Amino acid sequence: MPQFLPIAYFQQKFCPFEEATISIATHGLHYGTGAFGGLRGLPDPANPQQALLFRLERHCRRLSQSAQFLQYDLDASHIKSVIIEFVKKNHPTEPFYIRPLVYTSDLGIAPRVHDVEHDFAVYGLPLGDYLSPEGITCRISSWQRPSDLNLPLRGKITGCYINSSLAKTEAKKSGFDEAIMLNSQGKVSEASGMNIFLVREGQLITPGVDQDILEGITRNSVIQVAQDLGMPVLERSVDRTELLIADEVFLCGTAARITPVKRIENYTLPTDRPITTKLQDLLKAIVENREPKYRDWVDVIPLG
Ligand code: PMP
Repeated sequence: MPQFLPIAYFQQKFCPFEEATISIATHGLHYGTGAFGGLRGLPDPANPQQALLFRLERHCRRLSQSAQFLQYDLDASHIKSVIIEFVKKNHPTEPFYIRPLVYTSDLGIAPRVHDVEHDFAVYGLPLGDYLSPEGITCRISSWQRPSDLNLPLRGKITGCYINSSLAKTEAKKSGFDEAIMLNSQGKVSEASGMNIFLVREGQLITPGVDQDILEGITRNSVIQVAQDLGMPVLERSVDRTELLIADEVFLCGTAARITPVKRIENYTLPTDRPITTKLQDLLKAIVENREPKYRDWVDVIPLG
């Protein structure tokens, strides 16, 4: 079993992680009627009596919006205050990942999102690198990213992740680290749990929000930081072959941070990645609260 932070939030109170358990009849387990978030935090390198959380506000807003798809009113400010309390109670001593979760806790059968009970829970785990920051290999998945007509893709809805799970396993079992999915129009969408960027002739390009992507918070941060650095950023549809001849490709997400791609199928990408490296370094500095310009992206939580 992976290691977890000792305290969880479950059924409106804090309790030991081991006590936060649910019934096998739970509606959300059967029908994918849940939603989750994922944020990273770390002990402040400048003061271990504080923890730093990256883009807390925005993560809370996205979870609140995801809950709306489930017809569950969950205020972003409530999510935020629970997460802050969660961090204080756990007093983490190494980099960590927080997983807030909403799910239909009802024990009744029949797929629906109306007339069901919900719960909001939070747990966490220590988390180092999710993917190798040195670079990974990707395959183009045979699983297509569903469209916004099929699923509420702007939410991190648990049921949507069967697609990511199948794509990731297909990639792993065929000898690759990660899957890149195309959408129903055959355009590049994203990876199993990350957004994708490519660099061509000094331009940073990423599939637009109309390409069936999750609107990633790291993606949003990368776009903003790149623009602040004066780099042109294009949000547009991307063809598969553009990836194969790109100067640089990277994936980004909360868990993966910025992860360079070194090979896609049997196309090897250049090992010199000046833009990826620059963004990786800058994002690391921002997350560690070493960049005054981006201090409003970092919440400092006193651990007491
Ligand atoms: N796409 C998917 C499908 C994801 O699950 C994630 C991770 N939440 C991302 C992209 C990246 O989003 P973020 O940067 O907000 O973590």
